[in-house]
Amino acid sequence: MNSRRGFLKRALGACWIGASVLDQAMFRAVRARAQAAGNYTLPTLFDIEKAADGIYMALARPASLINCNAVIIENAADLMIIDTHSKPSAVVSLLRQLRNQVSQKPVRYVVASHFHWDHSHGLPAYRRIAPHADLVASETTRKLIGEQTLPRLKASFDELAKTIEDYKQRLAKATTPQDKALCREMISETQDYLQEMKNFTPELPNLTLERDLIIHDKAHDLHLAFRGRGHTAGDVVVWCPQKKTIATGDLLHGFFPFIGDGYPLDWPRTLVAVGHQFSFNNIAGGHGSLQRDTSRLYQMANYIEEVTERVVAGRRSGKTQAQLESEVTPATLKTVADRNFGELTAQGLLKHRRMPPPLPTAAQVLSDSVKANVGHIYAALERST
Ligand SMILES: [Zn+2]
Repeated sequence: MNSRRGFLKRALGACWIGASVLDQAMFRAVRARAQAAGNYTLPTLFDIEKAADGIYMALARPASLINCNAVIIENAADLMIIDTHSKPSAVVSLLRQLRNQVSQKPVRYVVASHFHWDHSHGLPAYRRIAPHADLVASETTRKLIGEQTLPRLKASFDELAKTIEDYKQRLAKATTPQDKALCREMISETQDYLQEMKNFTPELPNLTLERDLIIHDKAHDLHLAFRGRGHTAGDVVVWCPQKKTIATGDLLHGFFPFIGDGYPLDWPRTLVAVGHQFSFNNIAGGHGSLQRDTSRLYQMANYIEEVTERVVAGRRSGKTQAQLESEVTPATLKTVADRNFGELTAQGLLKHRRMPPPLPTAAQVLSDSVKANVGHIYAALERST
């Protein structure tokens, strides 16, 4: 029998030596859970890329339960981490990587860009690992985490039970060893997630902002800002003027937008306000690759505006959601025809999201994404009238 300490030393390598007492306590807790699930491995979930001097993006690898990217900002004496993924153990995995690849500095600030589960379920892990860190969000996001996290998590358990059944059917139909292995992996990752989240308790941010919060660190300034509703009612961006870099959460990322909790009439002007008020070249969004110029910001704003205009006009002439979903197709949208937006975005989704076999084509991804956006915009307009 191996001692706990022995297992963790082997699993974490050099990271164990650099870990604080609290990091070690957290790693032990995760290890105990892994042992209970019969799974001893701590997977590597991210690829860390440098966005600018002292700013890194942890690009989430494809996973059955999607993780958001994290942005890591190295201050003079500590770290700020933006966004916290779908489960507490993802935070442990990220910290192990950060200790090995980026810095041993303590975590001082953790920012939740918005309330969604795949950005906020790691907050309790940071609270345990770094009890003196400030967990920061907009006041609206704090409220939404409090109201929405547990009911949505509970609803997701029923959905995920159906998802596992779907993966089992796909497994039975799979013909290649690769497809079978992928189905099995997706089933076991989903089961692990359910096991980990069974007794989950959300953690609320302890420091909130309405519009602006500027941290004047010795290394640089960090400007947290809310500039209007968009992906949710409370999206916050983090801008570093000296490094010309911005973290945008899901207000702006490399996939098609998710508008299920969104404000399609406000979102384009929120993006434009961010683009006009802050100067940056590097955009680290909540999903997909790092962007090295601002073209995506305007592509995204124009796309949401174009689809919203079509849905507004359709509703005005009495069309139903189903009619508009079949009429507003990628081929009819100017913004999607620009292959730097439409096709690249679909390919980005295929690259960074894990999907069960048979895999869709880029054209299918494109048409499914636009259809979902039309439906969500229609529902958002119904809510606002
Ligand atoms: Zn989101």
